[in-house]
Amino acid sequence: MILRCPLAGWSSSLDEAPDPVFAGRMLGDGVLVDPTGHELFAPCDGEIISVAPSKHAVSIRSTEGVEVLMHVGIDTVALDGAGFELHVAAGERVSAGTKLLTFDLDFLARNAKSVATPIIVTNTERFEIISAQLDRDLLVGDALIELRAKSLAQDETRGAGERCGATIRVDHEHGIHARPAALIANAAKKLSAQVEISAQGKTANAASAIALMSLGVRAGDDVVITVTGANARKALEAIKGVIRGLEPHEQVSAVAKVPAKPVPTGDPNRVRGVIASRGVAIGSAFHLRRSELSVPERGTSVASERSEFERARNAVKSRLEALAASSHHQARQVIEAHLELVDDPELLAAANEHIEAGRSAGFGWRSAIRTSADTLKSLSDARMAERIDDLLDLEHQVLAALLGEEAAHAIEIPDQSILIAADLQPSQFIALDKSKLVAICLANGGPTSHVAILAAAIGVPMLVALGDRIHDARDQQSIIVDADAGFVLLDPNDEQLASTSARLTARREEMERVRLAAQRECRTADGVRIEVFANLGSLADAKFAVEQGAEGCGLLRTEFLFLDRERAPDEGEQLRCYQDIAAALDSRPLVIRTLDIGGDKPIPYLPLPREENPALGLRGVRTSLWRPDLLRTQLRAILRVQPQGQCRILLPMITELAETRSVVKLIDELRAELSIANRPQIGIMIETPASAVLADQLAREVDFLSIGTNDLTQYALAMDRGHAELAPRIDGLHPAVLRLIAMTCEAASKHERLVAVCGGLASDPAAVSVLLGLGVGELSVVPAMIPQIKQLVAELAIEECRALSERVLLLESAEAVRSAVAERSRHSQRSISHDTKAKWG
Ligand code: PEP
Ligand code: MG
Repeated sequence: MILRCPLAGWSSSLDEAPDPVFAGRMLGDGVLVDPTGHELFAPCDGEIISVAPSKHAVSIRSTEGVEVLMHVGIDTVALDGAGFELHVAAGERVSAGTKLLTFDLDFLARNAKSVATPIIVTNTERFEIISAQLDRDLLVGDALIELRAKSLAQDETRGAGERCGATIRVDHEHGIHARPAALIANAAKKLSAQVEISAQGKTANAASAIALMSLGVRAGDDVVITVTGANARKALEAIKGVIRGLEPHEQVSAVAKVPAKPVPTGDPNRVRGVIASRGVAIGSAFHLRRSELSVPERGTSVASERSEFERARNAVKSRLEALAASSHHQARQVIEAHLELVDDPELLAAANEHIEAGRSAGFGWRSAIRTSADTLKSLSDARMAERIDDLLDLEHQVLAALLGEEAAHAIEIPDQSILIAADLQPSQFIALDKSKLVAICLANGGPTSHVAILAAAIGVPMLVALGDRIHDARDQQSIIVDADAGFVLLDPNDEQLASTSARLTARREEMERVRLAAQRECRTADGVRIEVFANLGSLADAKFAVEQGAEGCGLLRTEFLFLDRERAPDEGEQLRCYQDIAAALDSRPLVIRTLDIGGDKPIPYLPLPREENPALGLRGVRTSLWRPDLLRTQLRAILRVQPQGQCRILLPMITELAETRSVVKLIDELRAELSIANRPQIGIMIETPASAVLADQLAREVDFLSIGTNDLTQYALAMDRGHAELAPRIDGLHPAVLRLIAMTCEAASKHERLVAVCGGLASDPAAVSVLLGLGVGELSVVPAMIPQIKQLVAELAIEECRALSERVLLLESAEAVRSAVAERSRHSQRSISHDTKAKWG
């Protein structure tokens, strides 16, 4: 038996349904269709067995007896019929291809949690799915699901025995719709007695969710439960319990407004996370653990080992103090514990005893730590495990300081590694051999963290906020990271590996084609010039970006040059570095951002004052004005880059004009020192709500504005950009952030200033049309995304972008904005590609 596709759209596994009832197969098995059309047709000949009172779902029984539920959208019951027009009624006989329902896809995209439409075979006890057409663009009438009948071995004992019943009121806000029906049916299936529920003069087998839905029970209706068979009384209580337990006011509308935390799906192999850098990878799991550093047993002389030991401990102490000052409460507590241990008298005495006996400082320190760790272990107290970890961590830090920078940071990874860690520091990322790295999976972390930025720059797919389940992956096990869809497959089968590998090959070919096309100047389809620049952190990034078609650099994050070393680079070293990058860009514009440290970018050799909340403390330009010596050196280096005029200067974390004026004054003084006649172009970052609100004042005095959506989102939504729990909600397409961007663009256009976006939102394909519509003229993106973003811009018409952005500014959540954008692009693709006329074979 074949079920035909009842609506045009993209088919995918039911696992993708953003609802645990569907994804968990509680209503039966089937396929999810992401609609591109707005009409639903019968998938087979049969009889309509139920239409939801709120018109969003229709069920049909085929002539062979297959029962199919078509549920348009997720949580659409809450719309109470709005956006739907029914063309059939329950009891009607229809043939395949009869139009059942028309729906307003735009309206659903804006108002429902999702438009994804589950097509479910509900009586899977009688029919099994042999195959389904997944991951393809289907037209109405294409084959969708192939089924066969199961042999019917009925449980004869069901229905025999005592009989009892009860009447109960259904309080649930939407009555017995899909989700309550699934819960009741699930419970009834587990009972050995037979349960029937009657209402509105009809009776349904409670084990059938479809039958229950077709009763049309609404909130406040009474239903009669009748139970026959073994343990009937107990069964009756169980079903009453389920009906009573249905939440009276389901929280669907609230959920719909909040980008949901990834829903755990039925597949135990699939771990959902938040996308930090897009892409797909197959590789072998590799957990990042502390590497064992080797130390010699014999020391050189007692005096030199002692002084080396002191030097190493002091280096670790100042690094920890700097880190503590810029860390959050919990992290700070851990660091403070380490600080105590590094001075612990018992540990020091034990280590010094070894040194006095002619052993090396490293050997002495390791022996002292291991003896203490063994003592703690012997206590078999679970709470001590953490202290043991602290000790071993500290052992590593002091040994690394003794052995030197390289040994400290060298992280050996096997070929084709998918790196798994709780968290990752930018310095650890920098130390990795990228040629062996195919993806990164973090249990914690946020999508706009600095490691995420570094990974995206070189196109390494990365997922964050995966939770502890990601640690279930075994080392060397082949796993799949789908950082386009946001999940990891921990134990993929051969078919999944083969299809992902085919996808990767096709993707590489397509990327190469798009990369070649990206060498042209970027314009929209209607000819508006949009600059597509690159965000850079190194010379290697610059070379790669030019190959990808970068038209300039819109953000050089100079702080990356200051990380992973023992002292700040001097003017000469900075000049060489900027000059090399300018040369690699071959006369394309180079926007150099002055040092943006503090917050989540601490620098070990620059201890900042201890702060309760570093994200709201000395950051960006504030740090520069607090340490003008560093700023002076950096500005002199930038001003000296040749040819003059290629470099522009960008100031981070501006909140008011006074900050800008102080830096401009310093630039003018330095120009006089260096005899440079022309002031370079100076821009400011809009990454605090204050600067967006005051953009009209700021725009008057600078040459350009560059919006840092990573921080702007963090500060507008009051959500830490590194917060794993909030990660799914830290979305720059939130209407509050978009309104700040709109304000900035409006103010800039009054003064005829260019607005760039250099935060992560510019690299998000879903955001591009909205940003252009708001008036953004330059997108500075991660180098690996340049070809794709250029291609996307070339397909957009500016007037349509404007209409879209006006519309999304009025929406209520980032999720609603994303749905509206997705719907808009589906419409455009539809008009480009094919018409979706029904075809019946
Ligand atoms: C931003 O905040 O969006 C930005 C570009 O700066 P960074 O990510 O380096 O803080
Ligand atoms: Mg920023």
